Amino acid sequence: MSWSTLKTKAIVITSQPIREVDRLYRALTPEYGKVSFMGRGARKSKAKLAAHLEPFAVVDLEIVRGRRSMTVISVEREESFSNVANVVEHRLFAQSMMRIIDRHTHVEDPDRDLYEDLYAWLKFLDNVEAFSTWRYRFLLSAFTLRFMERLGYKVELRNCLSCQEQIMPLSFRWHTGKGGLVCTDCVKDEKQEWIDTKSVTQEMVMLLRMARENQFNDLLAARLPLDHLRQMLDITHELMQYHVPFASEIPFWQGVLTLDSVPTNV
Ligand SMILES: [Zn+2]
Repeated sequence: MSWSTLKTKAIVITSQPIREVDRLYRALTPEYGKVSFMGRGARKSKAKLAAHLEPFAVVDLEIVRGRRSMTVISVEREESFSNVANVVEHRLFAQSMMRIIDRHTHVEDPDRDLYEDLYAWLKFLDNVEAFSTWRYRFLLSAFTLRFMERLGYKVELRNCLSCQEQIMPLSFRWHTGKGGLVCTDCVKDEKQEWIDTKSVTQEMVMLLRMARENQFNDLLAARLPLDHLRQMLDITHELMQYHVPFASEIPFWQGVLTLDSVPTNV
């Protein structure tokens, strides 16, 4: 029998009970991408491993790789994001991000930048207070657009998809399938090609640009006019649905961020 072990930093992104007392975990790592492993006895009370395998932390893992499965043999917590774990809104938001990552990544497909991105988001959340529901939705949209870019779907927000000229105010339309903006001249010249475009507002485009390009602190300060924000969320959802296999039918901001009460203090 040959044993191989793997030592890595990791952020647990999801876990589920399996058999009587075990849990199946999935975690994001810098070197190996997403890994899936068993935690034996993880559901027994006082299980030491389980305590350290809570999400919202960076852990040092040691995993034994068998032919059919991997089993964790040691865990040490390196850094905790306790504010993310303790502020319920933050936690729901982080779980939404992790769910999106889990759904759209394959096991052991290394992507160091994706790990660094998730780490940066958690670090950012850990140092701020809770926001309004709409702000969370905007942030989740920002996360989603950046994540899609990692998957190879970079939406065109600056230049025309057809002629490559810079997009000018009030002279563009949107094409979800082709992924971005097209100038009205091209739409006029190539009618058949651009039959499925729709009109979107300048403010919505600004929100998309900001969401994808700006620093976290700018995202917190951004003004979020509700009508444009709603359009932006719809567009992000449409992009996911259109381009990313197995995207959920349910808009990405629903279901997890359940704080759906009245949209006040945006
Ligand atoms: Zn054009």
